Amino acid sequence: MDTPSDVLHRVFGYDSFRAGQQEIIDHVVAGGDALVLMPTGGGKSLCYQIPALVRSGVGVVISPLIALMQDQVDALRALGVRAGFLNSTQGFDERQLVEAEFLAGELDLLYLAPERLRVDATLRLLAKGDISLFAIDEAHCVAQWGHDFRPDYLELSRLHELWPDVPRIALTATATPATHREISSRLGLDAARHFVAGFDRPNIHYRITSKSEPKRQLLQFLREEHPDDAGIVYCLSRSSVEKIAEFLTDNGIAAVPYHAGLDAATRALHQARFLREDGLIVVATIAFGMGIDKPDVRFVAHLDLPKSVEGYYQETGRAGRDGLPATAWMAYGLQDVVQHRRMALEGDEAHRRRQVHHLDAMLALCETASCRRVMLLDYFGQEGSQPCGNCDTCQAPPETWDGTVAAQKVLSTVWRLANERRQKFGVGQVTDILLGKTTAKVLQHGHETLKVFGVGTDLGNAEWHGVVRQLLAQGLLAVESDYGALVLTDASSAVLKGERKVLLRRDTLRPARAKTSSSAKAAKTVAELPAELAPVFEGLRAWRAAVAKEQGVPAYVIFHDATLREIATRSPSSLAELSTINGVGENKLAKYGEQVLEALQATA
Ligand code: ADP
Ligand code: ZN
Repeated sequence: MDTPSDVLHRVFGYDSFRAGQQEIIDHVVAGGDALVLMPTGGGKSLCYQIPALVRSGVGVVISPLIALMQDQVDALRALGVRAGFLNSTQGFDERQLVEAEFLAGELDLLYLAPERLRVDATLRLLAKGDISLFAIDEAHCVAQWGHDFRPDYLELSRLHELWPDVPRIALTATATPATHREISSRLGLDAARHFVAGFDRPNIHYRITSKSEPKRQLLQFLREEHPDDAGIVYCLSRSSVEKIAEFLTDNGIAAVPYHAGLDAATRALHQARFLREDGLIVVATIAFGMGIDKPDVRFVAHLDLPKSVEGYYQETGRAGRDGLPATAWMAYGLQDVVQHRRMALEGDEAHRRRQVHHLDAMLALCETASCRRVMLLDYFGQEGSQPCGNCDTCQAPPETWDGTVAAQKVLSTVWRLANERRQKFGVGQVTDILLGKTTAKVLQHGHETLKVFGVGTDLGNAEWHGVVRQLLAQGLLAVESDYGALVLTDASSAVLKGERKVLLRRDTLRPARAKTSSSAKAAKTVAELPAELAPVFEGLRAWRAAVAKEQGVPAYVIFHDATLREIATRSPSSLAELSTINGVGENKLAKYGEQVLEALQATA
């Protein structure tokens, strides 16, 4: 019988296990149950694929990602693994074929959509086969209070009743301690061994910049740092998704929209193009992305503030699964805070409290003057890490300033409007009053006679917006009502009375350009090859693109970028040498070995 490391080398072509993998695999191979928390890109798939190949019988994988099953199965077949799937997208004949393979013991892995398990015929089918393990992917879908709850996942508790002797392994990349506990109890995995890997994604560079002209900033970011790279741009609304996709296309950048308002065929097409084409950008709402295991997503950009740190971590986590440098970039500004504070006023009390709690954590991450990664890891309970050197605040520590007086000016303007005039206004009017602008609206309300009129000419308009944003983020000011009227909070009075200092971070609307670009360059040099090897790499990519097209599979199913880079760098001259490269397993060596050597020769 093959050992797990034999399978790792022979089938997957990898040298060694990643952190955590071996322990999990050994535990499941021995028949134990497991609950695995591992960040995106950590290598969860191998944790059930290898045990399924080592143990006798078929590994049954429950996954909600129906649209991706075909690709997952194609990728396994390319490795010589006998895999199949059953879901609602198939016709009767195709399903029959897979069922027959399953019964004949001709499959190593069978992917199943969770709703299949509600069908008695499926349970009867499974009962007739020999099952080596159940893998429950995206296990957080069983958590009712999580953001991806799927009722069908509740059925999965039955697996253990029906097959008490078959090991189960549940996997997820998102889990605050509360979600973790819920997964464990709903799936009856309390007795399972829990494996919790760190949350850090060291290859992701985190950057949160103040929003001034989001479109221009996005364009600049893409042109300077990620020309021709694949990536995801997240927006809050469907209409902004459409607008940004069009804007990028108009500017010569290949981009497609994705949101729940598009019909299913269009969504499927855009997702498939993103997976298959090199360097395509998807502009999307958060409807896009779960389970997208495209390894070479080089950036994730947020043009709007995510609702929670969990959301931010999950969305940005889709970048850089291949371990090569990737960027998580976000533009964030006053309007985001106003809008989210307003949204957090909706719903019942419990809901509001949860929203506010999530938002406060997200805002704290945006406004922090210390390492973003340390804060992110802290949030997930991984305390005590050191500043990372690979986030914007580490690389260009923001200046902080004593904003107590500025805060008092804003707060007393709001106070005077409320107490002297019985009025509430939004940030625009408050800023105009501070700057002493005699606009029509100021004159109409007689605001030029307020004592605070014109007391804020020491700062500019954008700076006042920055002050208000930070006061909102710190809970020293609040928004009320639909139009974003500013009101004081319980915490405001301490500032007004001079009992509390307010420390603010100085916004750099134009971030320290030199620093950012040098860090970007540093990140790139790791990913980029020496100039003389670039044509070799491009030659290999062109060969790969042709093969992928011919077979109708995503390019990474043939070989990952990381593998092509290593081939270009080491320039193997024989099949034996080629076989030592990471990602070149037995099957791919036999299938593509000669072609790769020829493609190398041709570019030499
Ligand atoms: P996850 O599901 O945890 O996000 P995957 O299972 O998709 O991660 O793995 C992420 C990437 O890492 C994949 O491209 C996979 O092929 C690669 N990978 C996983 N384990 C190893 C390993 N031991 N050595 C090299 N590459 C690995
Ligand atoms: Zn840092």
